[in-house]
Amino acid sequence: MDPKFTRHEIETGRALFAGDWRFTAAASTPASLPKMHGTEIAFAGRSNVGKSSLINALTGRKALARTSRTPGRTQELIFFTADEKLHLVDMPGYGYAAAAKSKIAQWSELIEAYLLGRANLARVYVLVDARHGLKATDAPTFKALGNAAVSYQVVLTKADEVKPAELATRVAEVEAAMTKWPGAFPGILVTSAHTGTGMTELRAAVARLLNER
Ligand code: GDP
Repeated sequence: MDPKFTRHEIETGRALFAGDWRFTAAASTPASLPKMHGTEIAFAGRSNVGKSSLINALTGRKALARTSRTPGRTQELIFFTADEKLHLVDMPGYGYAAAAKSKIAQWSELIEAYLLGRANLARVYVLVDARHGLKATDAPTFKALGNAAVSYQVVLTKADEVKPAELATRVAEVEAAMTKWPGAFPGILVTSAHTGTGMTELRAAVARLLNER
């Protein structure tokens, strides 16, 4: 399951996220993407997966990323930073059935332009609800990330909603299913924004990632 992190990675990860995180930019078209600066890590996932909550928990900010937006409405990439070296990118939620077709097309164009042109994008964390596991609508995301040769990894959210035995089964299922996606970084991370489970590990994983670049 979770890789073991060193004390140094855990401390570096803690320090990385301990700063004063703020909103820096929002882009709804490829032309409005901010200039590349520092290293970016992005968060993707189905609408309502808990993406805003996870970003807020990671950064220790209550309302940095806005929670409870109308699912499928936000068609923007939103950028946050604390120190200009590490940037977090909140990607639009997907998989919301009622989203207009035109919005879906816009999402694809924006995301494709972003993924293909972003040399400083170190990893995309694809969030998956621990209660439900992978859904059919996650597949196009894995495909797009693989096609763009972007490193991505699955992060389970809302682990607090699932009993430990069921959680272990879910982790095994998702890990097994992800072996079919050769672009996926091996192993998945298990988190809960509500209890803080997995925050230390996710921050340490980011510290390791930055150290490897
Ligand atoms: P987003 O649409 O992916 O940004 O999801 P949000 O962060 O807005 O969360 C969607 C819903 O899931 C909200 O009702 C949150 O309170 C709930 N939620 C988010 N994270 C957790 C979690 O770790 N545990 C539980 N139980 N609920 C969560």
